[in-house]
Amino acid sequence: MTEELLLATTNQGKIREMQVFLAELPILISSIQNLRVGSSFQETGKSFKENARGKSLFYSRKWEGITLAEDSGLEIDYLKGAPGVISARFSGPKATDKTNIEKILDLMKEVEQEHRKARFVSCMVLSRKANLIKTIMGYVEGYITFQKKGTNGFGYDPIFFFPPLQKTFAELRPEEKNIISHRGQALKKLKSFLSLDYS
Ligand code: IMP
Repeated sequence: MTEELLLATTNQGKIREMQVFLAELPILISSIQNLRVGSSFQETGKSFKENARGKSLFYSRKWEGITLAEDSGLEIDYLKGAPGVISARFSGPKATDKTNIEKILDLMKEVEQEHRKARFVSCMVLSRKANLIKTIMGYVEGYITFQKKGTNGFGYDPIFFFPPLQKTFAELRPEEKNIISHRGQALKKLKSFLSLDYS
């Protein structure tokens, strides 16, 4: 029987990246946009893990198959780990990718290169019928640039510089980003976990 996996996110950028990665598996992928749940999960946790677990369990109660939730974000050393779990809404309730980036660049305009270290973090949680199956973390290290560069990707990609490729994430093609990104790292581990389970 083909397994049905629910992606518990409405973020189009994430959905695109996750679908590409999981496409080879014998799994049918749906997203919560096609699910009539009437309410949505409020991300009030203090860690990526807490949010991802809460979100996964919440939607798994409304779905027969397996549910995959991800909570991710950017941690900047100079900002003591901010924006962290509030990455999506760092510049306020009406935040957009543009206003979030502007806020970071403004907060860091006087900060020298060597103190601009940052990382993206992804926490993925699989569950079924309110039972946790697996929690997976993925990380990628880089630097915050002084200005935006590139037009691919989403979120903070235009200001996240990845030294090994000498490019921002927004200058990478989707398949290049997927190999090295925090989400790519987590998805690689998830894929081998799912392949073991479903081969
Ligand atoms: P959430 O996981 O839906 O709470 O939101 C994660 C937020 O972190 C996104 O809205 C982006 O602002 C940021 N983020 C997470 N992953 C990425 C990425 O791969 N590139 C750029 N920004 C990201």
